[in-house]
Amino acid sequence: MNTPRHPQVAIVTGASRGIGAAVAQRLARDGFAVAVNYASGSAQADALVAELTAAGARAIAVQADVANAEEVRRMFDTVEAQLGRIDVLVNNAGVLKTVPLAEHTDALYDQTFDINVRGTFNTLREAATRLNEGGRIVNFSSTTLALNMPGYAIYNATKAAVEAFTHVFAKELRGRDITVNAVAPGPIATSLFLDGKTEEQIQAFAKMPPLQRLGQPEDIASVVSFLAGPDAGWVNGQILRANGGVA
Ligand code: NAP
Repeated sequence: MNTPRHPQVAIVTGASRGIGAAVAQRLARDGFAVAVNYASGSAQADALVAELTAAGARAIAVQADVANAEEVRRMFDTVEAQLGRIDVLVNNAGVLKTVPLAEHTDALYDQTFDINVRGTFNTLREAATRLNEGGRIVNFSSTTLALNMPGYAIYNATKAAVEAFTHVFAKELRGRDITVNAVAPGPIATSLFLDGKTEEQIQAFAKMPPLQRLGQPEDIASVVSFLAGPDAGWVNGQILRANGGVA
């Protein structure tokens, strides 16, 4: 029997802070060489890389706006040149502004779709030809898709697109021995969730799940670690909600 090669090199998009930073830390602990992608947070990405390197991991920071196909291509080139061919792609980069649909501007609509949908499309397209056999792709959806709360129409639409990519792309990669799954977090205590909310609103979200707390970035990093690791080899084309039981 052939023993599958343990994946070695991972790219985590949007890893300068929030969930992505926790994913990069966890994958580095799991033994991956990690590319920490960021858009503008170079100081945070550099600090994270310094921390990972000090702990004995191989890590680099790579600037690329995931919404820009050429920058994404260059990011893959850089990672291949500096860390080697890629085994794991984590499509974590994403933005959220909760605005009622009727008040959404064209610019905000474009930005949300460009980063959440086109950004995921850009990296998946590169991954189709550049990921090693035995590789893993983990996309990011959101539990908000199941909650249908006011203010989330555009964001949820982008995450519905990501879920559609996940199901179809898993099938299009037939024969490559690459799994494609998505994690759909509930509320996680990062700036994406916390910014612009009152303490009262935050507490209301924290009380929603039967586990009665907000999720932490590490709660999601462990799910990504599972999907990227050896134990999830038979999980493919799935959306895994991680939300303390909220939906
Ligand atoms: P966050 O704290 O706001 O961090 C977002 C990260 O994405 C940052 O590292 C940011 O980098 C990066 N980023 C933004 N635009 C980018 C672009 N165009 N290209 C490359 N990187 C970009 O967000 P988070 O809460 O960790 O969210 C991570 C993912 O989880 C998102 O896909 C989000 O939709 C999903 N999610 C979050 C929650 C939650 O409650 N937090 C719930 C469900 C799903 P810079 O600092 O360089 O801009």
